Amino acid sequence: MQFIDLKAQYEVLKTEIDCRMNQVLQHGKYIGGPEVQELEKKLAVYLNVKHAVACGNGTDALHMLYMAYGIGQGDAVFCPDVTFIASVEPACMLGATPVFCDITEDTYNISVESLERQILAVQKEGKYRPKAVTAVDFLGNPADYERIELLCKKYDMILIEDAAQGFGANYHQKQCGAYGNAAVTSFFPAKPLGCYGDGGAVFTSDDTVAEFCRSVRVHGKGSDKYDNVRIGMNSRLDTLQAAVLLAKLDVFVQHEIEMRQKIAKKYDDAFKKRFTVPFVEKEANSVYAQYALLAENEDERNAMIQRLNEHEIPNMVYYPTPMHRLPVFAQTECYGETFENADSYCAKTFSLPMHPYLKECDQERIISALLR
Ligand SMILES: *Cc1c(COP(=O)(O)O)cnc(C)c1O
Repeated sequence: MQFIDLKAQYEVLKTEIDCRMNQVLQHGKYIGGPEVQELEKKLAVYLNVKHAVACGNGTDALHMLYMAYGIGQGDAVFCPDVTFIASVEPACMLGATPVFCDITEDTYNISVESLERQILAVQKEGKYRPKAVTAVDFLGNPADYERIELLCKKYDMILIEDAAQGFGANYHQKQCGAYGNAAVTSFFPAKPLGCYGDGGAVFTSDDTVAEFCRSVRVHGKGSDKYDNVRIGMNSRLDTLQAAVLLAKLDVFVQHEIEMRQKIAKKYDDAFKKRFTVPFVEKEANSVYAQYALLAENEDERNAMIQRLNEHEIPNMVYYPTPMHRLPVFAQTECYGETFENADSYCAKTFSLPMHPYLKECDQERIISALLR
């Protein structure tokens, strides 16, 4: 059994994937081939945004957006205390100050109450300018955009959606990846829609931001690549990766999302009396990038992990450490926030195998191992 079974997926999609990859081998345009533009168009249509700008990975996508909004020294960037470091890391590289916010007790997404407390605390201190909020669709579950958008408006801040885990999810009938001033996703193989290496994209309906990112991803190119108008980076999506994504996209949209949700539903029904199962808002649909259960406490969580290991059932903890406790952020100001929900979540969480091709018998095995 695999935690995320990419081989099983390949077996099912082999014809389409091989065909798409072969076309690239035939035309030989390994960088900037026609597949990249075709993918960008399809992604933009799927999300109902004006622009998709494919790039090297999700971290670079965030980096390009932080650059696009001129984020740097003196700026505070707010993000949830439980996420992958890449949500805010590029802003730190640009000189900005990360400000962590607690998560909610039920969705594990950024708490709007904590966010407002932190914004006010930063304002009061007067050292940094509250500049941007990076909201994360944690484990594939959409953040509370309705209320986050209101806060960003109230405090005149940029909203960036980190949909690295949320591609394929939606909220209020709007796709994740379409929220905020701009959004990013990642096509890392283990993400809901993954390629066979690194990949990512920026999504936005803002022409200026899209054009900026198209320039920055190729060394700040101007009218051509040797007419450099700004300092940029080298972050293109390989044509072969675009081909893999094109081969997967339709099946992902038409079947895989539903299959993930069906598997989640079965886990929910089996575990809801025994553990805390994922909570998804009524108006939201999660893509279940991960399926996480919460045990009563850390000891029970560790016991469950041990039991899964004994049964040779792969498992993971997303994430063991909240941002404010990472060594790299030891000197980062917390503004009196206590992060109770974040600490509690990280102590109790553990994730089960989750992918569209998880066999029913394997799912039964997982369920009986944990409920024994
Ligand atoms: C994976 C991930 C990223 C970074 O994506 P890469 O493609 O690995 O650079 C950013 N944010 C979150 C929440 C992620 O899960």
